Amino acid sequence: MKKTLLFFSLFFILSCSSSEDEDEVTPTTPTEFKFEYNIHSSLPSDWVTEFNKIMKNLDILIKVKPTAYFYKLPIYAWNDNVDKPYKDKIGDASGASISGNGASVNGKYMVLEIPNNELIGKHWHRFSVIAHEYYHVYQMSLSKNFFDGNIELKWMSEGGAATFESLYIQQHYSHNYFKSAQDRVDIAAINTPSIFETYSASSSKDSNYASSVFMFLVLVKELQKSGLTETQAFKLVLKDFWIKNPTDGNWKVKFQETFSISVDQFYNSLKSYTADIKTVLPDENLKLESIYN
Ligand SMILES: [Zn+2]
Repeated sequence: MKKTLLFFSLFFILSCSSSEDEDEVTPTTPTEFKFEYNIHSSLPSDWVTEFNKIMKNLDILIKVKPTAYFYKLPIYAWNDNVDKPYKDKIGDASGASISGNGASVNGKYMVLEIPNNELIGKHWHRFSVIAHEYYHVYQMSLSKNFFDGNIELKWMSEGGAATFESLYIQQHYSHNYFKSAQDRVDIAAINTPSIFETYSASSSKDSNYASSVFMFLVLVKELQKSGLTETQAFKLVLKDFWIKNPTDGNWKVKFQETFSISVDQFYNSLKSYTADIKTVLPDENLKLESIYN
């Protein structure tokens, strides 16, 4: 009887100490990235159906790999004809973005406030915005510095996300969103391209990111001139550059390493283009799968 008691107390002590050891080691990264859906009833069911389809397609195309710093993300989606139904969770957040505390894995969330007039008018943006924000999530999983907010570089970041959304719409709905919604390219994209490195310097000249998309597509054309195929060029600009984990301080070095062109050379090359999105459009038959496989 005594022996049994002793055995059990010993076992208890051992098991306690072993679980304390586990607490001390870094928690292991989950094997799957987890999106948590909060889809409000104010959204029409056909939008919700399409949202689920797009998320599934993107999960197959560019599966977000979990990392120690980023392995889950709540999504809050609602129709803007109701007053911020997730106020208790995300405060006054509105529009569409990946928001929240940069340093904390629990702090970030995706905001998809869908304008009711886009739903009524069947505007492509009601779907393309999902692909746009998903791309930013993918980008954060590739680059911790982007996740932490250590790089702004708007024309590459927003130009990439906005290009990705147009490629998605073109492939899945046979509609050229570059031409219909990203055509208001400002001449500044050619004359003073460096202003598009920050949001504050270029906000008045980048309607729906048209100028950033233009610069991004010119970079793809320049890479093709250097001998790459279109899909190889897109892989470099949409993926490989971010894997190099650039910062505001070193992105010009990473740019040269990735593209074998200096930023100055690239900015100069813009002068040989006209500020017209129609002159730099990607192949309409381009498949995103061919970029990422
Ligand atoms: Zn964006």
